[in-house]
Amino acid sequence: MNELIRTENLTKEFETRKGFTGITKIKALDNVNISLYPNEIVGIVGASGSGKSTLAKILVFLYKSTSGKIYFKDEDITKIHGKSLKKYRKEIQMVFQDPYASLDPYHSIEWHIKRPLLISHYSGNIDDRIDELMNMVKLTPPESYKNKFPHQVSGGQRQRVYIARVLALNPQILIADEPVSMLDVSLRIDVLDLLLKIKNELGIGIIYITHDLNTVSMVTDRIYVLHNGEVVEDGHTNTILTSPQDGYTKALIEAASDPYKRI
Ligand code: ADP
Ligand code: MG
Repeated sequence: MNELIRTENLTKEFETRKGFTGITKIKALDNVNISLYPNEIVGIVGASGSGKSTLAKILVFLYKSTSGKIYFKDEDITKIHGKSLKKYRKEIQMVFQDPYASLDPYHSIEWHIKRPLLISHYSGNIDDRIDELMNMVKLTPPESYKNKFPHQVSGGQRQRVYIARVLALNPQILIADEPVSMLDVSLRIDVLDLLLKIKNELGIGIIYITHDLNTVSMVTDRIYVLHNGEVVEDGHTNTILTSPQDGYTKALIEAASDPYKRI
C-alpha cells in the first residue's frame, strides 16, 4: 500500500528578533523525512521545542516550509494553492492540545458537529450523520449531549466533540498534537482508546504527537524521535522502546520512567 503522506527533507527556519543584536535564525525542522500509511498510527516524539508542532502545522498548511517537499498519495503538493489546497485541507485534519480553546463556548455540542456538515453541503441525512459521529466518539446516547455546552462536559468529552467535528469531513489523515496532555490522567486512556478505535473502524492514518513516551506504546505502530528539529531515530515502536540506538532516545526513555528527571 502506498503512503498517504510523505515528507522529503522538510526544513523550517524561523527568524526571530533578539533585542538590539539583530535577527537570529532557528532551525525548527532539519531535513525531516516521515511517512504515514493508511490504517496506522505514527508517533512523533520529542521534548518541548523539538519541532513537533512545527511539523504538524506545515502538514496542514498553517506554516510554509523553508525547503523540502510534501507528497500526498505520491503527488507533490508542496506548492499547491487555490482549489487543490482546499481539497487537501479537507483530507488532513488536526486536533489540538487544548479542547476548551478549540470549541466555541456560545454554541452547543450539536452545533459544533453540524457545522462542518452544513458547510461541506453534506448530501445525506444530517441528523443521522450527527448521531453516527457522536456514537463513533462515544458521546452516547447522543441525545444527552447534543444540547449541552462545552463547559458542561469534561475535558475528555470536549476533546471527543472536537474529534467528531473533524471526522465529519471524512479526512484520510488525522493529526493529534498532544491531544491528552491537558487532560486529567484518568481521562487520557479514553481519548487514546478513541484514536485506536478511529484507526480500526475508519482505516485512516493518524499522526500522534507527544512529549510523553508513556503513551506512545499504547497507540502507535511506528515512531519518529525528534531532537532539535532532526529525526534521530525511527522504526517500530516496540523495537525502539526496547532497544533504542540513539543516545537522545535512550535519555527520553529513561526520563519517562523517572517523572522527576528533566532532559
Ligand atoms: P514542540 O511542538 O516540539 O514543542 P515547536 O515546533 O513548537 O516544538 O517549536 C520548535 C522550535 O521552533 C522552538 O525553538 C520554537 O521556539 C520555534 N518556533 C516555533 N514556532 C515559532 C514561530 N512562530 N516563530 C518563531 N519561532 C518558532
Ligand atoms: Mg508543540
